[in-house]
Amino acid sequence: MAYKLQNEQEGNCLQCGTLFTGRKDKHFCSLSCKNAFHNAIQQEKRHRRSEIIAALSGNYEILEALLREKRTSAPLADLANLGFDPAYVTGHRKGRFGHDDYACFDIWYYQTDTRVFNVRRKASDPR
Ligand SMILES: [Zn+2]
Repeated sequence: MAYKLQNEQEGNCLQCGTLFTGRKDKHFCSLSCKNAFHNAIQQEKRHRRSEIIAALSGNYEILEALLREKRTSAPLADLANLGFDPAYVTGHRKGRFGHDDYACFDIWYYQTDTRVFNVRRKASDPR
C-alpha cells in the first residue's frame, strides 16, 4: 500500500474548491463535481455554437433580402446597421481580381473594406 500513499496528494476540487486527498491526477472531490464541471463546459460549447448559427442565419437573411430586392451590391456600413457581421462566413476563396469571395451557405459575394458586391446564389461550387 506504500505505492498508493506515494501517489496520493491533497488538491482542491476544480468544481467546488473543496480540499480533498486522492491520486495526483484526480481533479474532483466527487463524481457529481466531475460531471457538473464537464457539463458546464459542454453547455458553454453548445451556447457558443448556437450564437454562431444565429449570426450566420442573420447574415443569410440580410443577403437574401438583397437578392429579393434584385440588389447585388451594398455598403458594408448599411448591412452592419441591419446586423450583418462579416466575421461569420461559411466559405472563403482568394479572389482572382484583388477581392476575396465569401459565402454564407449558398449565397456568395465579393467583399472589400467598404462594400459587398456580386451577391449571387450558387447551389454548388462557385468555380
Ligand atoms: Zn467538488
